[in-house]
Amino acid sequence: MKRIGVLALQGAFKEHIEIIKSLGHEAIEIRNAKQLYNLDGIILPGGESTTIGKLLDDFKIKEVLVNKISNGLPVWGTCAGMILLAKEIDGNEDAHLKVMDIKVRRNAYGTQLDSFVTTGVVEGVSEKEIPMVFIRAPYIVDIDEKVDVLHKVDGNIVAARQENILVTSFHPELTDDKIFHEYFINMIK
Ligand code: GLN
Repeated sequence: MKRIGVLALQGAFKEHIEIIKSLGHEAIEIRNAKQLYNLDGIILPGGESTTIGKLLDDFKIKEVLVNKISNGLPVWGTCAGMILLAKEIDGNEDAHLKVMDIKVRRNAYGTQLDSFVTTGVVEGVSEKEIPMVFIRAPYIVDIDEKVDVLHKVDGNIVAARQENILVTSFHPELTDDKIFHEYFINMIK
């Protein structure tokens, strides 16, 4: 049984907690830096990245979190979580945790495709088509060679991994499919 933290300052953390538990693991809502010790992995959920970034500062979680991730703690960022992990944000905005060598574009699908659902086979993660829910989602516009691209939709990178860091533009926690959660848990040695 693994101990998985889910950052619970704002956003879609409850859904991740339910899935982790349903897979037989311990899920902990993270609201302070002390809780970051003794975790096997942590999920940064979707929500509003500017708000979560500010709360990470206010609650003094940021420094410890960056430290843990830099020292190999497996982390998975979904949607806003992806934005938080990126070294760069397209435009004039300061990045947050700056631990993954990607540049992301926020709200990248504009208004017409603001939110949509598609399916795809993510090589190395799932052998069958899985549903992908995009909600005012970002995508990756630039990567360093250290980053592995896991999936693209219409030519844009929407899932990637750099060693212990996994990111998805979409929300597997809002579907019935648990394959991405299983993949993340398997990243834990
Ligand atoms: N648009 C949000 C942001 O930029 C992310 C949306 C999401 O997490 N569903 O922070």
